[in-house]
Amino acid sequence: MKPISNHMPTAELQALDAAHHMHPFTAGAELGAKGARVITQASGVTLTDSEGNRILDAMAGLWCVNIGYGREELAEAASRQMKQLPYYNTFFQTTHVPAIALAARLAELAPGDLNHVFFAGSGSEANDTNIRLVRHYWAAKGKPEKKVIISRWNAYHGSTMGGASLGGMKGMHAQGGLPIPDIAYIDQPHWYAEGGDMSPEEFGLERARQLEAKIAELGEDKVAAFIAEPVQGAGGVIIPPETYWPEIQRICDAHDILLIADEVICGFGRTGNWFGSQTMNIRPHIMTIAKGLSSGYAPIGGSLVCDEVAEVIAAGEFAHGYTYSGHPVCAAVALENLRIIEEEKIIEHVREVAAPYMAEKWAALADHPLVGEARIVGLMGSLALTPDKGARAKFASEAGTVGLHCRDRCFANNLIMRHVGDRMIIAPPLVIQPADIDILFERAVKSLDETFAKIKAEGLYKAA
Ligand SMILES: *Cc1c(COP(=O)(O)O)cnc(C)c1O
Repeated sequence: MKPISNHMPTAELQALDAAHHMHPFTAGAELGAKGARVITQASGVTLTDSEGNRILDAMAGLWCVNIGYGREELAEAASRQMKQLPYYNTFFQTTHVPAIALAARLAELAPGDLNHVFFAGSGSEANDTNIRLVRHYWAAKGKPEKKVIISRWNAYHGSTMGGASLGGMKGMHAQGGLPIPDIAYIDQPHWYAEGGDMSPEEFGLERARQLEAKIAELGEDKVAAFIAEPVQGAGGVIIPPETYWPEIQRICDAHDILLIADEVICGFGRTGNWFGSQTMNIRPHIMTIAKGLSSGYAPIGGSLVCDEVAEVIAAGEFAHGYTYSGHPVCAAVALENLRIIEEEKIIEHVREVAAPYMAEKWAALADHPLVGEARIVGLMGSLALTPDKGARAKFASEAGTVGLHCRDRCFANNLIMRHVGDRMIIAPPLVIQPADIDILFERAVKSLDETFAKIKAEGLYKAA
């Protein structure tokens, strides 16, 4: 077989891709007919495709390329580590310097007494660890029946059997025999879609109190933990009402339930602090981390664990681990990424420059005739598309039809913005500059205008 390279014609690459590559979260036949967009290189906030188009990546890959593309220092950190020690494991009482250094650094960065890390290769794996960890914790304390984990409908916690079970995506549960036993769900704090006539504050309390009701229904002695993203990401960037998290914290404290914050998206600067838990003012016992931990340059995730839970686990052997737990190359890359975030004051840049500028522009999009709500925290934002702003109405068409049109217009205008149903979402690299933000808005407005014209022409501008 001849070598496959960036220099092959796009159509040939697409044909090979369609023939041999099974894509995640993609309708294969549809993609085969259309051909995937082939990304060949990237720098800063900009991707280049095989046709030479330059695309502004307002999703930071999959919410992960926090420091932007093309940072040589990370390539050098990986190269140095590969030459020195490409692999060794951390099983059976061995360790190595990159894992030690990264664990110690994370303990320093994490709030409270989250002083211990169990490494994984991804966010999904880390959440699988969390399921076993919290159940084993209660069992070790003599309460093996305390094993139900409460999560939320429309949460995203990964794609493994455990991660997808913790997640509350019904479309995922429908494939592969999910969820696993002893996971329960409450409703999400999604005021715009589900708040009805309540004020956001009333609604936030009502949704938080579902947790207390669920604990009462199951019995406090049966519930191990509650897991949630500080701000839901894949569910559509859903920023909870201000009343929500304080009430959740109160309930977890009152009922002796462990709180797991899934920080896979919110962690490492996305919301303007190191962790979303700091932005939302919560005190989790465990945090799931991945994505921004290495800015996506190498696959690594983990569970950050508080003193009490770690001590109970450490009393015996935790029969759990991944071949690549604490992989030295990934750990070295993550350390270099954390160094850059700190030394280049990237979180301060989010808080003082990028997020305020973005927030101002984002709020202005709410004036567009198609936009019912424009919300943003730090550098993660959402637009709710609607045929009737006043009523927060849904479209008559199948959910996602209009969102997909808008996503396609963004794509055509060299802007990566994602759609979740009829919501448009962004989470750009944290290093985005005001001049990039101007381009982002120019393209977003153009794409919204074109979507508006198209759905009117096709008779889709209609409320359900
Ligand atoms: C992406 C994501 C995960 C899963 O991480 P992977 O690295 O894709 O396994 C888990 N939780 C949240 C909140 C995520 O956004």
